Amino acid sequence: MAKEFKKKYMHPTRRKLVDMVLHGQEYEKDTFVSFAGADEANVKRNVGDKWTDSNGDMWEQKEFGKMKVSDLSDTMQEVRNYLDKLNTCKSTKCKTIKYSRVDKKLISKTGYCIKCLAIKEFQIKDDGMWEAYETYKITSNMISHGLDVVAKFKQAYSDAKQEYEVVGEDGKIEMWRMEKDIDELKAEILADIERYESEIQEAIKLRDGAWELLKDKNYDLVTAPIN
Ligand SMILES: [Zn+2]
Repeated sequence: MAKEFKKKYMHPTRRKLVDMVLHGQEYEKDTFVSFAGADEANVKRNVGDKWTDSNGDMWEQKEFGKMKVSDLSDTMQEVRNYLDKLNTCKSTKCKTIKYSRVDKKLISKTGYCIKCLAIKEFQIKDDGMWEAYETYKITSNMISHGLDVVAKFKQAYSDAKQEYEVVGEDGKIEMWRMEKDIDELKAEILADIERYESEIQEAIKLRDGAWELLKDKNYDLVTAPIN
């Protein structure tokens, strides 16, 4: 390796580092050091460090990696907009100025304030679709709740044991033995799972029937089934 570095062809800050290494020059702690390309991997950044790269873009080190400072403020603004949107009535014709507690609750559940929700629901009633709408809402809730329950039962089924280690108040480990036979218990859980699953299937049939009636209406309050 030639001892003479071609310093003048180097990027200024890279040269600065070379100087530092070769001549033991003190590296000023608060200086922004810029890098391009492969050199970046060699620099350890701490969360909160800011620096400017050779293109003049400013970066900040975040816990998950580096981020352009301009992108960062854009992202924060996007998050704020998103949160504002979640707390705002979706209706473009909304005239509600100050939301009540009920308004806020309805907005988070349905997207609309009381008045706008009433207008939307009136349209559904007027179309003679109220029953289908109710059926669709109720069965959709049943299905998502039912799937949660089944998941819990399945967990219980695989976790079930004849004996459990229980840590007592005094910190000692006690063995607790179930009186019921484990196979019997598992069979009961399995029967419950099957019962729930067939109820879910019934609910899915009802929901899909209601969806058939509602789908062409494109109601804002009705979104397509997910499961
Ligand atoms: Zn509204």
